[in-house]
Amino acid sequence: MPSDGYDCIIIGAGPGGLQAAIHLARYNRQVLLLDQGGGRTRHALHLENYLGLEITSGKELVETGIRQIKSFGVEFRREQVSSVQSDHGFTVSTAQGRYQAPYVVVSSGASENLPPIRRLNRFFSRSIFTCVDCDGYRTTGKQLVILGRSQAAVRLAVAMKQMFTPDITLVMPAGRLPDDQAELLAEDEIKFRRGEPEEFLGDPDLTGVKLRDGREIPCQVVMLSYGYRINDAFLAGLALERVAGGQKLATDHHCETSLKNLFALGALKPGNAQAIIAAGQGAMVGIEINQRLLEL
Ligand SMILES: Cc1cc2nc3c(=O)[nH]c(=O)nc-3n(C[C@H](O)[C@H](O)[C@H](O)COP(=O)(O)OP(=O)(O)OC[C@H]3O[C@@H](n4cnc5c(N)ncnc54)[C@H](O)[C@@H]3O)c2cc1C
Repeated sequence: MPSDGYDCIIIGAGPGGLQAAIHLARYNRQVLLLDQGGGRTRHALHLENYLGLEITSGKELVETGIRQIKSFGVEFRREQVSSVQSDHGFTVSTAQGRYQAPYVVVSSGASENLPPIRRLNRFFSRSIFTCVDCDGYRTTGKQLVILGRSQAAVRLAVAMKQMFTPDITLVMPAGRLPDDQAELLAEDEIKFRRGEPEEFLGDPDLTGVKLRDGREIPCQVVMLSYGYRINDAFLAGLALERVAGGQKLATDHHCETSLKNLFALGALKPGNAQAIIAAGQGAMVGIEINQRLLEL
């Protein structure tokens, strides 16, 4: 098999890729980890649901992980992967080089769909959230506005009412809410406003959302329901099997895609996108790849 001597190339230094790297490196395997920087985990200001870490930030988790993989001899390169090709093993290309290995782990995560609302960055991850599993708890007992465009926002509003706070206003553009859904909201005493959000208000703390028509809706916290898209453009040449309307990669119980020896973790596959879940999948994939290397 053509190879640069790498046993495995890992794409993405989130919790999934880093944990796969730790496991493989601790079998003394030759591992290359390519990461372009940024990433979803780095946006998380507070992670409070990761066993053993009472509170940390995504940045701290990732930076500690990068130090940890380097200490076990993983080669870490700050490069953006542009393509993966499969031909008797894999060739992974970046602007700086082409790297080969018999196994590839794709752990490139996802990117949030963020609406163009003024002053979003000021409050993002502090009082404006996107993930109920991650930050729903932070809205407990607070005045909450939910912004979205689809029925997913309605389901989110009903769920958040059960779990976190009685004071919820759902804002959606006109024409997006079927009558039966409006009844559901009314039954649950969830306020509903038609409108387009324009700006987040408050300094230093969030105090409300201003709509394009000038109305202001007071709130302390906001949940955005616009979904996310997986970072998989570099896999376009591989014709991988997909699920969830093409939005996710199909994988088996080893996180292996429809292409043998190509594994996908975290947000790329169906399931909940959580740091500890991605890390668990990374550990599982690292062990599985090592088993296969032993059998070569
Ligand atoms: C605001 C916010 C708060 C969150 N809070 C929590 C929380 O409290 N608890 C929790 O469990 N989860 C939380 N999450 C979710 C969590 O961060 C991720 O879902 C989870 O860590 C998955 O990690 P991952 O390894 O799959 O990918 P990611 O962490 O997204 O990492 C992927 C990496 O791949 C890199 N990459 C992408 N494309 C390429 C390419 N072409 N070439 C090279 N590198 C590439 C990216 O730059 C990034 O470094 C939060 C997410 C956000 C956005």
